[in-house]
Amino acid sequence: MPTNTFAYNIGMYIDSHCHINFPELAARMPEILAKMAENKVTHALCVSVDLPEFPSVLALAEQYPHIYASVGVHPDYEDTPEPTVAQLVELADHPKIIAIGETGLDYYRLEGDLEWQRERFRTHIRASRETRKPLIIHTRSASADTIRIMREEGAGTDQGGVAGVMHCFTESLDVARRAIELNFYISISGIVTFKNAQALKAVVQALPLEALLIETDSPYLAPVPFRGKPNEPAYVRHVAEEVARLKDVPLSVVAERTAANFFSLFDVQK
Ligand SMILES: [Zn+2]
Ligand SMILES: [Zn+2]
Repeated sequence: MPTNTFAYNIGMYIDSHCHINFPELAARMPEILAKMAENKVTHALCVSVDLPEFPSVLALAEQYPHIYASVGVHPDYEDTPEPTVAQLVELADHPKIIAIGETGLDYYRLEGDLEWQRERFRTHIRASRETRKPLIIHTRSASADTIRIMREEGAGTDQGGVAGVMHCFTESLDVARRAIELNFYISISGIVTFKNAQALKAVVQALPLEALLIETDSPYLAPVPFRGKPNEPAYVRHVAEEVARLKDVPLSVVAERTAANFFSLFDVQK
């Protein structure tokens, strides 16, 4: 990861993962964008969850210069068209589509034979290798299989693949380190501000800032003091504040470093 200076982005925050195309946020777009500007949230990555909704994700990225997008099908979406590698590669062929995902495994939300989830995950890793665009990985109660499939399919730069991000991270420090070994970043959501998130707080304290991104996953998971209310990209500042507190560094350092990490992972205009 590069170590150049980051004077250009002092005090800027980047929401590395949001779903602002979801109707409750899309309906308030002028207000969402104004609050981002007020809070110096300069960029947001709007993440695709299925193919039928992908056009609404792409439309936002095409309309607003500082909104970027991904293409992929979320592991929790069971009854939705299954993507092929060729389809993902074709849809990703756009300058504002900077990532493949979100993809991954979720054994918490769904039960039964989840072989289809693992196959879908492999499809995304193959599309990432082909497009050279980073992966956005969602993993919940499935970390061993997630890391195993990442290795089997050659996700991560060590294996000729592409780096990526483990988004909304809630797994152990050991899982974080295995992902970092594959040159993946660990993205911290508003969960870190919750009182009962002691394990995640400890993970953040143990990891270097060089490995971290910050996100909202809005409209879900609003950070304290907005917990339980709809989340939005402007609130990513509260995630940064908690990371700064936990690591005992100035807020500006967290802002600069996580923004620099975002620019180093994704092909984005500063
Ligand atoms: Zn997710
Ligand atoms: Zn998400």
